[in-house]
Amino acid sequence: MSTIVHNLQAVDASIVAAASAAGRARADVQLLAVSKTFPAEAVLEAIGAGQTAFGENYLQEALDKIAAVGTALPGRAIEWHFIGPIQSNKTRPIATHFDWVHTVERLKIAQRLSEQRPDNLGPLNICLQVNISGEASKSGVTEAELPELARHVAQLPRLRLRGLMAIPEPETAVHRQRAAFARLRKLAEALRADGIAIDTLSMGMSSDLAAAIAEGATIVRIGSAIFGSRKYE
Ligand SMILES: *Cc1c(COP(=O)(O)O)cnc(C)c1O
Repeated sequence: MSTIVHNLQAVDASIVAAASAAGRARADVQLLAVSKTFPAEAVLEAIGAGQTAFGENYLQEALDKIAAVGTALPGRAIEWHFIGPIQSNKTRPIATHFDWVHTVERLKIAQRLSEQRPDNLGPLNICLQVNISGEASKSGVTEAELPELARHVAQLPRLRLRGLMAIPEPETAVHRQRAAFARLRKLAEALRADGIAIDTLSMGMSSDLAAAIAEGATIVRIGSAIFGSRKYE
């Protein structure tokens, strides 16, 4: 068995265990395989093992990979998620080639994605990235600005606001990992109480997946535990 196939099985087992410990169904947690920096061959191997959703951070690398996978497996339904920082002059290819974007933090970007989403595709699924670690992180909308951004994004015609995403500061203690994820969960609950219908919490990476699932993650974004350590970021 290849390393990637073996790793996918191990990650799946971790998700099963964490979901079960939290009294949740395995099916309520989607595994997003983060393939950034790894070649199309690695993605094809994961697809061969049944993985269908992939996360990418770097646009040009992602576009090349999406094209290569499309050529190798024409007609195969693969879900591509953009999870990297978004430059405003790069929104069109993102709106065209991806199914999800997890890293929306400004209305301007959301408006461009909505305007540029091709008519023949369904709505682009959106998560708002929230800065839950305060000044330690530069990325993400502040908790204070989140409700207004969510209200506006929810109105955009070719987007579907699905939920929230966060990348907390790395913590080794599980209770600290959980505290950060619990904040994101509570922010999502507050939005729902305000009438914004969201169903997604994109949180948890290779080192904190169990804590994220314990706090309600519906998408975990796993890179190195599947593909190995990256030679560069
Ligand atoms: C790279 C990356 C991941 C995956 O991180 P691992 O620690 O390799 O699992 C998840 N989410 C985002 C936004 C990333 O950039």
